[in-house]
Amino acid sequence: MSNPDSSFSGYAFAGAPLDRGDTLRDDPDALNRLWPDAQVLVLDADGTAFANADGQPFPILGRELGGGPGAAVFLGLTADRRAWFVTEAGTITLRAPNRMDLRQAAAQWPAEVADVFCYARGMSYWHSRNRFCGVCGGAVRFGRAGFIGHCDQCRTEHYPRVDPAVIVAVENAGRLLLGRQSNWAPRRYSVLAGFVEPGETFEQTVAREVFEESKVRVIQSRYMGTQPWPFPGALMVGFFATAHADVPAVDGELEDARWFSAEEVAAAMRRESVDDGQGILLPPPISIARTLINHWHRQQLA
Ligand SMILES: [Zn+2]
Repeated sequence: MSNPDSSFSGYAFAGAPLDRGDTLRDDPDALNRLWPDAQVLVLDADGTAFANADGQPFPILGRELGGGPGAAVFLGLTADRRAWFVTEAGTITLRAPNRMDLRQAAAQWPAEVADVFCYARGMSYWHSRNRFCGVCGGAVRFGRAGFIGHCDQCRTEHYPRVDPAVIVAVENAGRLLLGRQSNWAPRRYSVLAGFVEPGETFEQTVAREVFEESKVRVIQSRYMGTQPWPFPGALMVGFFATAHADVPAVDGELEDARWFSAEEVAAAMRRESVDDGQGILLPPPISIARTLINHWHRQQLA
């Protein structure tokens, strides 16, 4: 599946290298047979992955760990029918020389392995936050190769969750709205974003968040693409929006928001190779935020 505008691409974690093999989740015998040759991604409690001394993926086969999948989560199959699992380092005696976090991996690992890491990290985070039932407090027992949590006390079933958030490039008359939070790196500006609230459509979230954060009124918005963003559990839903020529005003979440011309955005892009120490910096290339900015800028040149 490609995005509505197929030229809107280039951000990380959107490659889908695995067939998720949903029916295999109910087939423990098949998963046991796949285990010896399976690639097992091992994550520490902080969400970093085992890596080689040079920071590349540290391949562990199921047979090196012995036994069967046990509590490992079955992620899916590559095109050559090799299974991938993720498991927690706490149960592993193998020692890896290095650790990589997901942002580093997105920049340095083969894209398909970084995509699997993204998926694995999301599952691992969900497990870590759902050891007890949110309804009755009972212990949760995971089934379906890690994709369901059963509470034996009140019989509630728990499923993996993501938190949808919109992220939006807002335009008015050839200018792009960018803002910054006070806890970001100095001079870093980005497009606006915010979590979807219950009872809202994405388009309503776009209008509400942009107004809350900048007092700019959105006229219309258009879906561009989606990026899984497990830091820790978000799904970023990317939009372009047009807005009224309002003067941005911030209070609270952002410390600044301003309109930027295409030339100012181009200068910020050039600063990535040679930083003149002046002006703003943009978010990293792995993010859908940056893809929105790049795409908007290309449209201004066209
Ligand atoms: Zn319960």
